[in-house]
Amino acid sequence: MSNFSRRRFLITAGTSALSAVFLKGCLGNPPEPTSSTGSSTAAVTPIALTPETTPETPTVKLGFAPIFEAAPLIIAQEKGFFAKYGMNQVEIAKQANWGSARDNVEIGSAGGGIDGGQWQMPMPYLISEGLITKNNVKVPMYVLAMLNTQGNGIAVAKTQMGKGITLDMSKAKDYVVGLKQSGKPFRAAFTFPKVNQDFWIRYWLAAGGINPDTDVNLMTVPAAQTVANMKTGSMDGFSTGDPWPTRIVADDIGFMPALTAQMWPSHPEEYFAMRADWVDKNPKATKAILKGLMEAQQWCDNQANRAELAQILSGASYFNVPATVLEPALMGKYKMGDGQADIDDYTKAVQYWKTDRGSVSYPYKSLDLWFITESVRWGFLPATYLDNAKALIDKVNREDIWKQAAKEAGIPEADIPSNTSRGVEKFFDGKVFDPENPKAYLASLAIKKV
Ligand code: CA
Repeated sequence: MSNFSRRRFLITAGTSALSAVFLKGCLGNPPEPTSSTGSSTAAVTPIALTPETTPETPTVKLGFAPIFEAAPLIIAQEKGFFAKYGMNQVEIAKQANWGSARDNVEIGSAGGGIDGGQWQMPMPYLISEGLITKNNVKVPMYVLAMLNTQGNGIAVAKTQMGKGITLDMSKAKDYVVGLKQSGKPFRAAFTFPKVNQDFWIRYWLAAGGINPDTDVNLMTVPAAQTVANMKTGSMDGFSTGDPWPTRIVADDIGFMPALTAQMWPSHPEEYFAMRADWVDKNPKATKAILKGLMEAQQWCDNQANRAELAQILSGASYFNVPATVLEPALMGKYKMGDGQADIDDYTKAVQYWKTDRGSVSYPYKSLDLWFITESVRWGFLPATYLDNAKALIDKVNREDIWKQAAKEAGIPEADIPSNTSRGVEKFFDGKVFDPENPKAYLASLAIKKV
């Protein structure tokens, strides 16, 4: 905690000016917890607040991880979109890892932690249910928005080149299974167990006929250590958010067999969620935060802003990585490596506001159901969760608050979904998830634990 306190600082004049102060961190090091408050430098003129829109409090502390999914939180802070709606004392705090974020939301800002922030799915559900908290204490949370889609990938070490490891893993199945049989199994990592990254690497392997529970070794590694572990050879592959997979290729440590945008275009990625008690106590402040977030998401999705986005994210208190490393992936330019064609397609890049599948920001209940279904698939949640999923999702997913905030912010009707279901989802291997029948999806999968 003392290290945390020492490195805490407040920003009043924007981040880039302070870059020189923070030369300690270098590429590949784990992010050190830092925080920032962007109160007095709002780039946007605050709106005139009415009694109905005046936040109960202008103060909130939100956590983030230094990956592309955090961009809407960082931009809402840096561009003054939170302040525009009266939230002029927002603190966004870099979390050392996902376990720390969980610990910090358990104690809340009153205890020196956070009130909410960026989450992999279904962390807000697992925390609400007391499944990953200390002493299994239930800390009810509300899912309020999706932060982003895409912008994640699977990276594999250079030593594994030329083995047919691509999006379609069926070509590399014999090789990977052979590694296990020879006593040197393929070691793959994710940043936190039983959430997005774990699901993406499992889906990718299983689609190629490789059983992630028995044919490879899976482990948890903090995102920022993935590069170092790949360098030292203690890891063969990992699944995480940009810029880390891109870094592997830029540093010539490995290659990218697959982007999540290829596996499931417009897939659900990370979410904005807060402690339910904070939201219940501060409903107008919650909507103000959401309005700022939505405006930031629209800003982030404007391709003309992406070079500036790379600059802002590169700041020492955020990613602490050169903008030149961030920009290609933000523009949809990926060097895949190992004989695969490079990708230059903006629609494959991380997106924040909308895609051809509709709203990115709106938290569709049908997508929460996929995460619960996939959790049942791998035995992370008992099968009974599927039978009780609707009641649980209705409790945790507060798309109703998102809609109220969107209407107050003047978001066009066309951008406010009328259905809580996004409909049928299609995956790269031809599998289909119909939210009306999740059991049929489970039945269609050859490799599963359930
Ligand atoms: Ca992610």
